[in-house]
Amino acid sequence: MESTLKRTWAEIDIDALLYNYGVIREKIGKEVKFLGVVKANAYGHGSVMISKALEDAGADYLAVSSIDEAMELRLNDIKMPILILGHTPVEQVERLIDYDITQAVTCRAKAVEYSECAAKLNKTLKIHIKVDTGMSRLGYICRGDYFDEAVKGITEAITMKGLDAEGIFTHFAVADEFGEDEDRYTREQFDLLQRVCDAVEKKSGIKFKIRHCANTGATVRFPEMRLDMVRPGLLLYGYGEFAKEWGLKPVMTLKTTVSTIKIYPEGTKVSYGGIYETHKGERMGVLPYGYADGFFRCLSNKYSVVTPEGPAPLRGKICMDMSMVDITGYDSVGVGSEIEIFGPRNPIEKMADIAGTIPYELTCAVSKRVPRAYIKNKEVIEKELLLRM
Ligand SMILES: *Cc1c(COP(=O)(O)O)cnc(C)c1O
Repeated sequence: MESTLKRTWAEIDIDALLYNYGVIREKIGKEVKFLGVVKANAYGHGSVMISKALEDAGADYLAVSSIDEAMELRLNDIKMPILILGHTPVEQVERLIDYDITQAVTCRAKAVEYSECAAKLNKTLKIHIKVDTGMSRLGYICRGDYFDEAVKGITEAITMKGLDAEGIFTHFAVADEFGEDEDRYTREQFDLLQRVCDAVEKKSGIKFKIRHCANTGATVRFPEMRLDMVRPGLLLYGYGEFAKEWGLKPVMTLKTTVSTIKIYPEGTKVSYGGIYETHKGERMGVLPYGYADGFFRCLSNKYSVVTPEGPAPLRGKICMDMSMVDITGYDSVGVGSEIEIFGPRNPIEKMADIAGTIPYELTCAVSKRVPRAYIKNKEVIEKELLLRM
């Protein structure tokens, strides 16, 4: 493990995470619960360590996308409530119950299946009802003509044997986009969720303990939509315009080192396809960081990393395991010099713009051979390598 740290690694700043959590907590107030979205290995940051930090800090809930992700947390001693946002096959219901994992229920067929299975076991599965108010992904469809059927279906589900409906939620499609149409769409989704909840509660006499819908965009932009619990992901990790607005800090810094230095004469073609040719004598650093580490190949010839002396532009095509950067004139940059790929000095938002994507995709893409080093009070408190050894 130690030996790999000086190839390419991700520093996960737990202090930044806790700072962000503290700011969000303060903004939402004491009445509102906090669910940290830690699906997809906490957006690439390492879900176990992120969850541990959130648990210690007093967060209320975690969310993941699958039972495997939930089990990883339970088997690593995370005790706080966990919600699975995605589908879980009915064969796994007993495991959900035994490990006290909350399951989203997204339609009538699944409610029936889960209920039958739990009832047969003489146990109770904790669920949150998922309502599709306009995302058109998972959830009971309830727009327009579907309203009454949704209310009926949800009322049925929450009174079924073996199911304990703790919460109800929806997901926004455009809460993080600016514009009148987008705002209207989000307000309509919100309004619809409220109407469904009210109708179900009236019909069933059961009150949902936790209504939630606010992702990053809604948490920041629409305080009224925080309801009983907010559910941010990106905001917590400190990326994007909303994090900037609240003065949050990026949690991940991706670093590498210069592994080799070459000096080429003018007219030398660099890397596959020879798309870059040196204009003069150029000093080139080889970085052990390529698309297999999560570097997007479309950034070839377009992105700059940051050296201790300043930015160094990429030259030529990004390879699977390596890429080349121009360090001409940076005389103090040598083999072993630390390079920031993205982080506080080289914002991931810029990389996302150039790659034509969003920060989410970039942190999720940091691959399993990139070790994570967790930093607290300026010290590495834990290192994690995902390779099987
Ligand atoms: C991923 C996800 C979130 C978090 O979204 P952010 O934009 O990262 O805040 C919230 N809710 C659901 C259902 C999700 O799938």
